[in-house]
Amino acid sequence: MRRVVLLGGGYVTLHAYGAMVRRLRGELHRGDVEIVVLSADTVHSFHGFTGEVVAGLLPLELTQTPLTEAMPRARVVHARVTRVDLATRHVEFTSSDGVEDRLAYDALVVGTGGREPLDGLAGEALTLRGPGDLSELLQHVRVVDGPVVVVGGGLAGVELAAALAARTADVVLVQSGDRVVPALHDEQPRLAARCVAELARLGVDVRTGLRVVAADDTSVTLSDGSVVGTRVVLATTGQRPVALPGLETLPRDRGGRLVTTRELLVAPDVWSAGDAASVAHPRTGVPVTANALWAIKAGDHVGRNVARALTGRPGRRFRYLGLGQAASFGVGRGVADLYGLPLTGWVAWLLRIGFFLRFMPSRSRAARVPAELVRRSRAAAAVPPRVAARR
Ligand SMILES: Cc1cc2nc3c(=O)[nH]c(=O)nc-3n(C[C@H](O)[C@H](O)[C@H](O)COP(=O)(O)OP(=O)(O)OC[C@H]3O[C@@H](n4cnc5c(N)ncnc54)[C@H](O)[C@@H]3O)c2cc1C
Repeated sequence: MRRVVLLGGGYVTLHAYGAMVRRLRGELHRGDVEIVVLSADTVHSFHGFTGEVVAGLLPLELTQTPLTEAMPRARVVHARVTRVDLATRHVEFTSSDGVEDRLAYDALVVGTGGREPLDGLAGEALTLRGPGDLSELLQHVRVVDGPVVVVGGGLAGVELAAALAARTADVVLVQSGDRVVPALHDEQPRLAARCVAELARLGVDVRTGLRVVAADDTSVTLSDGSVVGTRVVLATTGQRPVALPGLETLPRDRGGRLVTTRELLVAPDVWSAGDAASVAHPRTGVPVTANALWAIKAGDHVGRNVARALTGRPGRRFRYLGLGQAASFGVGRGVADLYGLPLTGWVAWLLRIGFFLRFMPSRSRAARVPAELVRRSRAAAAVPPRVAARR
């Protein structure tokens, strides 16, 4: 019996699992192959709908699928991986009940993703990576009065600032660069301008060219000396890969991501993708963006190559060329870049929703999304604006 060990319960491992199960039905059925998932979280968090959850348009539980449900043919172990021993092909971990253990692997997939870098904000800012993080933010927004400060003006920060503005009166968005969504500005200036206009419509106080230099329980200080009183700080400052001891010797990029081959290998019988890895775009050679689309597509490819390796065939090159990007600013208000075509409004919004529904790991949860969106957006529209702003 050969064992495939998947590290993490995110997009990469979920899609690697799916691809393997489709290709190794017989082997799994006969018990020739075992799939084990070691994950620090017990659920898969579907980040795509984070904005809708924050805006109160979807319940949090719809975006979280227990790993045992999402990967029923795998043995799921709730554990934090503490070390990978490449020489003896073992993974060391501490299970949720505190027991230290190790597991041998024949094939290993590193899908441990990343965390927001919190330089200067450690202990003061919330992030939204894990399932507990988002419920903590919702709890804070519900009970704490006063402004919410969002640090980081990329597409995720802009979308979350807009979503928060739908729930709370005051949102301050701090961006170190001289404009928000800088990457989108270069690629799709019209869409970037729409993002700026949506933030203005929602009353988000955008402060560009500034950094947070200090933060405590009640305020943040910005690099121009101004102080913003706040009890809720949310960091959307990009991501830094989770560093797993034992993998330090492998090639990494400057950001610390594991550099993969064209077949998405990082070492013999060890594959990686998603936020943990630096995967070269098949056409340009430039590392692909750390987002869900690339994690899904590369995770899928990893699963196919693991299945090929277990059946004695050589791995294939990753050839996916990309699709685009999108963000939402409320029902019917979206921006989307689809194969370079800029789209806005309902078309962009519906395309984005359709894409996310297609990739939600749970069909039953996906089926409930449209009705929840309609019901909750109608309920929000029925609340007088002043009350809605303070809720
Ligand atoms: C709030 C938010 C909103 C986003 N919105 C979008 C969006 O709209 N569109 C988009 O394309 N992308 C979006 N992204 C980015 C996208 O979610 C990530 O690129 C994607 O999750 C990367 O997938 P992954 O599998 O590499 O890592 P993740 O999905 O982060 O999974 C990592 C897994 O590894 C586990 N793990 C970490 N360390 C350990 C350890 N030591 N031991 C065991 N398990 C461990 C974690 O528990 C988790 O299960 C968003 C991200 C966030 C945080």
